Amino acid sequence: MIIQMKKQATKKDHERIVGYLKNRNLKIKDVRSENIIVFGVIGDTSSLDPHDLYAFEGVDKVTRVSTPFKRASRAFKPDDTIIAINDKIAIGDTNFAVIAGPCSIESEDQLRLTAKHLKASGAHILRGGAYKPRTSPYSFQGLEKEGLELLRKIADEFGMAAISEIPSADLIDVFEENVDIIQVGARNMQNFHLLKALSKSQTPIMLKRGLSATIEEWLMSAEYIMAGGNQNVILCERGIRTFEKYTRNTLDISAVLAVQELSHLPVIIDPSHAAGRWQMIEKLSLASLAVGANGLMVEVHPNPEEALSDGAQSLKIPKFDHLMTDLSRLTPYFGKVL
Ligand code: PEP
Ligand code: MN
Repeated sequence: MIIQMKKQATKKDHERIVGYLKNRNLKIKDVRSENIIVFGVIGDTSSLDPHDLYAFEGVDKVTRVSTPFKRASRAFKPDDTIIAINDKIAIGDTNFAVIAGPCSIESEDQLRLTAKHLKASGAHILRGGAYKPRTSPYSFQGLEKEGLELLRKIADEFGMAAISEIPSADLIDVFEENVDIIQVGARNMQNFHLLKALSKSQTPIMLKRGLSATIEEWLMSAEYIMAGGNQNVILCERGIRTFEKYTRNTLDISAVLAVQELSHLPVIIDPSHAAGRWQMIEKLSLASLAVGANGLMVEVHPNPEEALSDGAQSLKIPKFDHLMTDLSRLTPYFGKVL
């Protein structure tokens, strides 16, 4: 961190901030010129918020040199992280993970029929929402615990791993029992109480990017989970809110490249919640592979017209099958395996 003092800053102003930093076990490296004081702060500055330092009189500019996240950063761990989901499935490295399933688990028949086809097309991880974060309290809210148990049962029937979104910390035990990956939804990305509780679990966490979160805020949320002891974090870009209304959200495809520069954590793309339109999902999925994402999460429904949530962005089974055929053709070209 580099701090520049104002021209008119007094000796006392300078001593006050230096004293504060030294008390935090940080070292100061002074770079003085005739009329300006600039100094570097050396040591672990991760607990310092640069903005707070403007509370000191005489401070002109505070610039962070290192990232505020540590465990999630590539500087801390240069090699890509590979996360084992079970003995057969891993996310990261050359694997291109395909997570697919309905937005919501609606019934045993709906889930079984979907899973049967997904598995036959080559997907390894079954998704399904049981506790749905809906904008309206009058919309379908999910089958809750019964839904999670169905997800476990059907995933086991087809030898698939299971993922579902957790709504709150009090349900961690139920999720640990029923899923292989716990999903933190976009709306909960900055629910720090939930993140801290999940940091005590060893189940892999898929952390979706918040609706209006910067990449740094997203990685800081990953840091919360890692700082408490759970290093198994998978990031998921699912589109961010912009001025554009044509699509549900704007897929920030360059976020994958940014994350790969900044972090060693695997990152996947969810084109369904980004685009919000089934017509765009196949091409965006191929773009996800091309940009170097570690996988994909797509919503699939046997009958999207009748879906209880997100039908407009759900692929019909034949379309998903077509996507998997394309992916299997293209993965070797991009150095990945399905
Ligand atoms: C979901 O995956 O079903 C979901 C609600 O996603 P998001 O949190 O990205 O909106
Ligand atoms: Mn959905």
